[in-house]
Amino acid sequence: ALFELPDPGPEPARQTVRAVPVLVPMPAPGPYSYTVPENVHVVPGSIVVVPLGPRKVIGVVWDERGEGGSVDPKKLRPIEHVFDCPPLADDMRVFLDWVAAYTLTPPGYVARMALRAPTAFDPEPMVEGLRLVKSELERMTPARARVIELASDGFAWTRLGLVHAAGVSASVVDGMIAQGAFETVFLPPPPVVAPPDPDYVADRLEGVQKDAARVLIKTVDKGKFSVSLIDGVTGSGKTEVYFEAVAEALKRGKQVLILLPEIALTASFLERFQDRFGSKPAEWHSDLAPRTREKVWRQVVTGEVRVVAGARSALFLPFAELGLIVVDEEHDPAYKQEDRVFYNARDMAVVRARIGDFPTVLVSATPSVESQVNAMQGRYQAIHLPTRFGDAAMPDLRLVDMRRHAPARGGFLSPLMLRGVDATLKKGEQSLLFLNRRGYAPLTLCRVCGHRFQCPQCSSWLVEHRFRGVIQCHQCGYQEKTPEACPECGTLDHLVACGPGVERIAEEVVSHFPDARTIVLSSDMAGGVKRLRLELEAIAKGEADIVIGTQLVAKGHNFPLMTLVGIVDADLGLANGDPRAAERTFQLLHQVTGRAGRTGLKSHGLIQTYQPGHPVMQAIVSGDAEAFYDREISEREKANLPPFGRLASIIISADDRHSAEVHARALRNAAPQAAGITVLGPAEAPLALVRGRYRFRLLVHGQRTSDMQGFLKAMLAAGPKERGSLHVQVDIDPQSF
Ligand code: ADP
Ligand code: ZN
Repeated sequence: ALFELPDPGPEPARQTVRAVPVLVPMPAPGPYSYTVPENVHVVPGSIVVVPLGPRKVIGVVWDERGEGGSVDPKKLRPIEHVFDCPPLADDMRVFLDWVAAYTLTPPGYVARMALRAPTAFDPEPMVEGLRLVKSELERMTPARARVIELASDGFAWTRLGLVHAAGVSASVVDGMIAQGAFETVFLPPPPVVAPPDPDYVADRLEGVQKDAARVLIKTVDKGKFSVSLIDGVTGSGKTEVYFEAVAEALKRGKQVLILLPEIALTASFLERFQDRFGSKPAEWHSDLAPRTREKVWRQVVTGEVRVVAGARSALFLPFAELGLIVVDEEHDPAYKQEDRVFYNARDMAVVRARIGDFPTVLVSATPSVESQVNAMQGRYQAIHLPTRFGDAAMPDLRLVDMRRHAPARGGFLSPLMLRGVDATLKKGEQSLLFLNRRGYAPLTLCRVCGHRFQCPQCSSWLVEHRFRGVIQCHQCGYQEKTPEACPECGTLDHLVACGPGVERIAEEVVSHFPDARTIVLSSDMAGGVKRLRLELEAIAKGEADIVIGTQLVAKGHNFPLMTLVGIVDADLGLANGDPRAAERTFQLLHQVTGRAGRTGLKSHGLIQTYQPGHPVMQAIVSGDAEAFYDREISEREKANLPPFGRLASIIISADDRHSAEVHARALRNAAPQAAGITVLGPAEAPLALVRGRYRFRLLVHGQRTSDMQGFLKAMLAAGPKERGSLHVQVDIDPQSF
């Protein structure tokens, strides 16, 4: 009733114009006012088209915030179109506002994430169908008889459906139509996925799994906000367990969202879901075809789609009856979006559940320090699954001290590693060699003058991709043909590759095992996601002997024959001095080694490191995650780092270094006095130059209870305005600090 038309009153001369706030996908601080033409009905949440300057844009009717009144209605422009689709629910609008306020992002940008399927708002055209009403035709032919046999199932068929299914020519069906054999009916557009059946198979859980599921089912039954953290080793049955929570939510008539970090690559997940629920969930990620995307969006809004398995952006889908969110691999850095709206989907999933008052389940073999602390302090309900399911044992892990087991000259694999691969080959099983570095070599230099190939637009080295014959920047994508001569001194053929990437490891592997079937998997692979999916399937079927891959292969895949995992450079992630580096490395190594031995075959992990004494390496081989986390947590607590204190990073960038630095200093000087909050910097950002933009960083450190957003807003308001190429980007809870 917020926007009821006012009574026009007795005097028709004085026209009243109704105006409503509409949030448009612009970096404005709030909604703009538009008039509502007569006979147009809108409510808060209605999705509309409005003029904006010379363009027409999609917007959402927002809540009135009492700012109206003062605008001259004659200056306002009217809403042009209201889409025939359910309005965004109140919860959803509260959520979008919350995310905007928390991340200090214009609300229009956040709302745009909920409107990611722009043409999906008007209903899909109905499909015309034929229903058999007369089966006694004057002239009966075998072809006609076949059509009648099919169509007498009582359902409506499309014309083409009948033609194809009966194997007749279109003229046969047309002739029958002409003789009045059919009545025309309208069919609703087909659902993108069949509804899942929570009772499709009986729960087959065992022992601790059963207990875990019982606890989860109880929280789903309560239907109130809660956060559960399932913490269980790889292969313990976490997925099986949370499927029971999903089943329970479905039985209660709720929609379910399952977030996965690499959904586009986890086709096997969809199949597992189908095995349990009889149909696949709807997928949501950036590789969907536009038509599919629109259909899914619409059917999520109308409630036809009951379960979505999606990447982080699925969190902004406007579900009609969302009642459970599962965040699988909750520690995964892929949940952080660092573009336009900087948010962590794991954290925002919890917020969405709190606003909607329903349960969430976070799942990981290596939970984030944040979630561990929340569980320790009792804010999250902790559920442990300590052992692998069935007769699958954890792989037997061993550190390879590279100072003592040096590889042959020019190689990167120690003799121990090569022997391991050889033994695995002889058993007819698979090896995975993991190196989180794409390309052939991370650095190329000239042997004569020492020239290093650097990106012209970024402060990063160009990475050689030998398969493609290019050197490429992994920041901005800049690439050039691998030169034959040094651009500095002109010497021919004296360029040297420094350090390994996956392509170089593949070369080494092939030289040792020329007859083995070797696959290199990285995001560089030609053919994109489709091809990657096929390769992953092929590996699962045993069609490769040695897989060399980046973190793409680490996430969630089930390779039944994989019994050796070799980490080529375990120290790689530890070098950058980021306080989160140890946690990240531990998570990654655990996840990668967890690919081995998931089906009961005896399995091994070999971890090449120059720092065998490092706490991360010790934690990985001892399997004592708890001791590692205790240490990490107490160090964070001592330094008052998240989740004990709060952090925000502010990146100030510009086309020239000087203006960026000057602006950063001025912003720093504009910081208000606030107890418990300090501003560090400016310093050059960890990536000091990206795409030709110079970057400086301020780090804001506060207490757990500090009003960071209030502080930052005051600082930005008091600081200099962004002018020219200058841009200020705030990142609340940054990934690296
Ligand atoms: P996680 O998610 O913890 O890595 P999964 O749920 O993927 O573990 O389970 C690992 C493997 O064990 C899967 O192949 C799964 O089908 C199987 N599995 C787990 N629990 C059971 C069970 N109770 N009955 C049969 N198979 C199970
Ligand atoms: Zn670059």
